[in-house]
Amino acid sequence: MRKPLMAGNWKMNKTVEESVAILKELASLTKDVADRDILICPTYPALKSAADAVAGTNVMIGAQNLFWEEKGAFTAEVSGPMLIAAGCKYVIIGHSERRQYFGETDETVNKRLKAALKAGLLPIVCVGETLEQREKNETMKVVEAQVKNGLKELETGNWKLVTIAYEPVWAIGTGKTASPEQAEEVHSFIRGLLPAEVKETVRILYGGSMKPANVKELMAKENIDGGLVGGASLKAPDFAAIVKH
Ligand code: PEP
Repeated sequence: MRKPLMAGNWKMNKTVEESVAILKELASLTKDVADRDILICPTYPALKSAADAVAGTNVMIGAQNLFWEEKGAFTAEVSGPMLIAAGCKYVIIGHSERRQYFGETDETVNKRLKAALKAGLLPIVCVGETLEQREKNETMKVVEAQVKNGLKELETGNWKLVTIAYEPVWAIGTGKTASPEQAEEVHSFIRGLLPAEVKETVRILYGGSMKPANVKELMAKENIDGGLVGGASLKAPDFAAIVKH
């Protein structure tokens, strides 16, 4: 059995104070939840205060990205050991907004993935097709290349630390959700790409306009093991409802 992971990606939203307030409310609303993992990924400046705010609760903190070098002359970048020191457990890698606006490629995803594992962070690697690619029937080809190249050369022992998030780009922040059947088709395809030893254990999250109203039907699918939630994670009651669905 895979324990569900419900993860919130706050993107470039919320100040330090706002982040702490939402996290305290969320931790209180979800304090009795034991059968699923709960994660929030705030902005870099809020990470340490966020981690302090949820210490001793069942809410974990993650970052939205990391750089592959550990330190040095890389202005504006943040490394894995720095995220660990700030209290992060997880890190999102290769989000479609990083791919679309910041030139992220499967190659840089792979570098970040290896750096995250080396630092002791649990990576959440995002994959997903654009609307144009879906309309051209290229979804499986695109997702396969992202999984194979983004996660290449992983040691078997490291695979069990990895989470994959399937996020159809056309469903992110658009209000359009993949139907449970559309999502499950890709999730089960991704599971088929995994090494035999971890096929049954790696969690595959769905992301793309997940909200309290659609979480149940998505989570009912065999290969959907959690959610990566943007907009609906910014309000504690909404995200708590998603967590507790
Ligand atoms: C995301 O950014 O990972 C995401 C799924 O966003 P939203 O839930 O807002 O579509």
